[in-house]
Amino acid sequence: MLKIENVTKYYGDFKAVDNLSFVVEPGEIFGLLGVNGAGKTTTFRMIMGLLEPTEGTITLDGKPIDYSVTDHIGFLTEERSLLTKLTVLEQCEFYGTLKGMSNEKIHERLNYLLEKFGVLEYKNKKIKELSKGNQQKIQFITAILNEPKLLILDEPFSGLDPFNVELFKNEIVEMSKRGSMIIFSSHRMEHVELFCKKIVVIMRGSSVLEGYLTDIKDKYRKKNILIKGNLDVDAISKIKGVISIEALADEYLVKIEHNNVSNEVFKAIKNTNITKFVVEEPSLNEIFVSKVGESYEK
Ligand code: ATP
Repeated sequence: MLKIENVTKYYGDFKAVDNLSFVVEPGEIFGLLGVNGAGKTTTFRMIMGLLEPTEGTITLDGKPIDYSVTDHIGFLTEERSLLTKLTVLEQCEFYGTLKGMSNEKIHERLNYLLEKFGVLEYKNKKIKELSKGNQQKIQFITAILNEPKLLILDEPFSGLDPFNVELFKNEIVEMSKRGSMIIFSSHRMEHVELFCKKIVVIMRGSSVLEGYLTDIKDKYRKKNILIKGNLDVDAISKIKGVISIEALADEYLVKIEHNNVSNEVFKAIKNTNITKFVVEEPSLNEIFVSKVGESYEK
């Protein structure tokens, strides 16, 4: 289990992380979210042992972070950091050795992963000769070479086509099923929603929203209704609790204050020619934007 307890980090006088606590259990894919400058990278760097917390503790399976612990952590950084003059094999030998892997294990695991990701043919090519997407695959393979207990993924899908996003996604889910803890960070909420059950949203270094995504969505009272048909937009917008109506390509999106308002909207349109009426949970993106907006106002 990864345990972050009351962690604070100052850079000089500036507090970048403020009394942050969260737990990631084995097998969990955990979303660490926040706007630019919220403190995500600082938190990752503390988990990796690259920065010392000013206050608080970080432990992995009960042990404070040191080299014996970081050997079991994989980190895919947002800014890509491949040794581009090396071949794929040389880069992985270098990284695997740093992580304490035997040469035999490195080769076995590398061949397996290169094959799985369809890039075996590049094994002896210099990294700088590969396309951006293939470099991204090599970076991912490098991060998971040692089958880490904890894998930190910062914007892992940037620059990938939908086919390769799927490939990465499957591997991440498989790793979590084998018991790895995964911390996933992305500004693309639709990606976060795809596989994170638990999230924490940080603003100015401290948590403003955390918990299971299903609970967060339940508690967030606002809902969306998708309606297809000829609507009296004026009449609906006057119903108490209707926040807005937006005409989409071939349907309307009606935002409401809470679930009960959907009955009123339904009553108002039930005698018209309607082919679709669906009440939906808000997207994580909507909740994120609204939560961040509230925090800016404070
Ligand atoms: P982004 O999404 O833009 O990558 P982030 O959430 O990863 O942002 P951090 O990089 O952790 O944010 O930065 C948090 C805050 O700490 C920012 O205000 C940043 O300017 C500041 N900061 C980061 N590194 C340093 C440093 N070495 N010295 C001083 N301030 C720093």
